[in-house]
Amino acid sequence: MIHNRDFENEEMLAMINLNDTIVGVSAPVGGSISIIRLSGEDSLPILKKVFAWKDAANPQSHRIYYGWIFDGDKQIDEVLVSIMLAPKTFTKENVVEINCHGGTFAVQKILALLVKHGARLATPGEFTKRAFLNGRIDLSQAEAVMDIINAKSELSHKTALDQLQGRLGSLLNDSCNALVLLLARIEMAIDYPEHEEADIVADEIRAKLIEVSLELDRLLKVAKSGKIIREGIKAAIIGEPNVGKSSLLNALAYEDRAIVTHIPGTTRDVLRETIKIGEIFLEISDTAGIRDTDDVVESQGVARSVLESLRADLVLLVFDGSRHISFESVAELVSEDWSNVLVVINKSDLEQKIDKAMLENKFGTQAIVEISAKDFLGIDILCGKIQHMFLNEELVCGDDLVTNTRHIALIDTACDSLASGIRAIDAGLGIDFIAIDIQTAYAALGEITGIVVNDELIETIFSEFCLGK
Ligand code: GDP
Repeated sequence: MIHNRDFENEEMLAMINLNDTIVGVSAPVGGSISIIRLSGEDSLPILKKVFAWKDAANPQSHRIYYGWIFDGDKQIDEVLVSIMLAPKTFTKENVVEINCHGGTFAVQKILALLVKHGARLATPGEFTKRAFLNGRIDLSQAEAVMDIINAKSELSHKTALDQLQGRLGSLLNDSCNALVLLLARIEMAIDYPEHEEADIVADEIRAKLIEVSLELDRLLKVAKSGKIIREGIKAAIIGEPNVGKSSLLNALAYEDRAIVTHIPGTTRDVLRETIKIGEIFLEISDTAGIRDTDDVVESQGVARSVLESLRADLVLLVFDGSRHISFESVAELVSEDWSNVLVVINKSDLEQKIDKAMLENKFGTQAIVEISAKDFLGIDILCGKIQHMFLNEELVCGDDLVTNTRHIALIDTACDSLASGIRAIDAGLGIDFIAIDIQTAYAALGEITGIVVNDELIETIFSEFCLGK
């Protein structure tokens, strides 16, 4: 069921009870200080039942108060309490945060007291879910909260912060608004055909679709570079036996991890090495030589190398420049898609017999690098080419807004639908056909910001949060 978060759908509101007051531990038990957070209508009345402080008669919002937590007459802990009244709070509800001592006993005791006086233990992510359901943040911002908690690098932390500030949401909202206007425009043209020249309307829609596509495309490109910087790329070194695959891996890694020998077929299995080239982490596998073999162990290695090449983001296809090549056999095995291949002609220190022109014909001059793994020649050029292949210049501007796989997939769907809309216009199909593509793109983008969401998605996203967030 699809609906929007303005709560037009009563059923959803009934399912998600926003009326009770929830409590959770927002900073870990066991540290020197823990934070217990209450959110909901009754946060203040519940606090008053357990907290004794000087200004109890007239508490002010957005102030911190010093005092003691009591269970009846019994003193439990000395605390600082922040009182933040709706609507200027994280959840847009009345929020109280109790900074207490972090020992397990104190925290458990205070939690139990708050529950006894009417609060309910929050489920994972429930505070952030309330922030979303109450319209304080959009769905991409809610997910950014989790990304900030999980961020391992400075870059992923910065990206999540940007997302939390709503930059992605507002960019996508612009695209969504443009699509809604287009849908309105199409409806007008269908309802009042006498007022509109069909060709003019189609041209106008085409231009706008291209504009929105370009913006989404830019986001995706930068996202893909960002992902590469955060997660690295998988590369496979492929080639016939003895061309210098292991030597290349060693030259790239600057250490003798792979065994280098002159007996064909000694690299029987896949060796892995992670190396850093500029900003990029490369997980390289040096695979068995590709050739027909009767040796069972080796043929398994060969099969694995083919698999590696299919899974790799980058294939380094190595040839021995001092030999004539039987290139077709390797070409057939590697992959149909040559866009991720760099051809490495090794052994440039020896007399060259390879038909370089043939390789250039097949792969283009840009995809070819001549090296000597033995003498470390050309390795820097190869590294430069790898960086150029994967890093988008625009990333330098720090504009990497999309990091979440769910978001990337949805933007991809939106781009595909818009491309299909543009193709439909070019094929002269009626504008009512295009409306379907625009609606699909709109729904995909809306699932990122949360304009269009379903209950299941909300449950899945927030269940991945930790307690107290
Ligand atoms: P692999 O079977 O493709 O992994 O090939 P290896 O890395 O084991 O190398 C096979 C042989 O070629 C070894 O004797 C290496 O020393 C030699 N070799 C590797 N790279 C070069 C190079 O750049 N120049 C020369 N002259 N020999 C090389």
